[in-house]
Amino acid sequence: MKTTDKKTALAELERLYPDAKPALKYTTAYELLVAVILSAQCTDERVNIVTEKLFQEYSTPESMLRLSQKQLEKYIFSCGFYRMKAEHILSASKDIVEKFGGEVPNTIESLMSLAGVGKKTANVVYSVAFGGAAIAVDTHVFRVSNRLGLAKGKTPLEVEDGLCKAIPKENWSKAHHWLIYHGRRVCHSQRPACKECTLAHLCDYAKSTAKSDVKVTKKSGAKKP
Ligand code: SF4
Repeated sequence: MKTTDKKTALAELERLYPDAKPALKYTTAYELLVAVILSAQCTDERVNIVTEKLFQEYSTPESMLRLSQKQLEKYIFSCGFYRMKAEHILSASKDIVEKFGGEVPNTIESLMSLAGVGKKTANVVYSVAFGGAAIAVDTHVFRVSNRLGLAKGKTPLEVEDGLCKAIPKENWSKAHHWLIYHGRRVCHSQRPACKECTLAHLCDYAKSTAKSDVKVTKKSGAKKP
């Protein structure tokens, strides 16, 4: 995708989703951190159901550490990968209490030093809870960026790097939400709704699909309608 097309695509995403915001419910940086850990391979709707109950009693790292691994697993069972997620939540909570005085740290490096916290989780907490400039690449951001041609890459880190180059820094956090909304509402993983997509004229995937359709039509000898 050409630089000018990238700018046009970003402007269109902003026009489409001016109020894009996180779907996860939280009231503190710690609650957001726990919710993001739970959201791996799980819908935000499911996470919100689970955290609504969990945070009634366990909304700080200190209170969370009163739960045993097994007790926490029972709360978060329906989010999937519950053993690993319980382990990560407890380990991160322990680190927050022991190394950061009970406060979630506010830099990407220190967030990533917490047990079980990777780059994507750190970027979400840094940008959403602390207003920092970062682009978290989740499955939607990865897919839409690659299909559009906004930032191509085989790994989330490669895509993050490309997005950071393509998008002005002041829009990094907002662009993360625009791409998530577009992935959820239009550019679905299985059947992207390219015919309804207002970015189709700019999109690498849509253009390549249109070309292969023409080739198939020519090969099969189908007449134009
Ligand atoms: S044209 Fe299709 S592939 Fe491209 S962004 Fe839109 S829905 Fe996704």
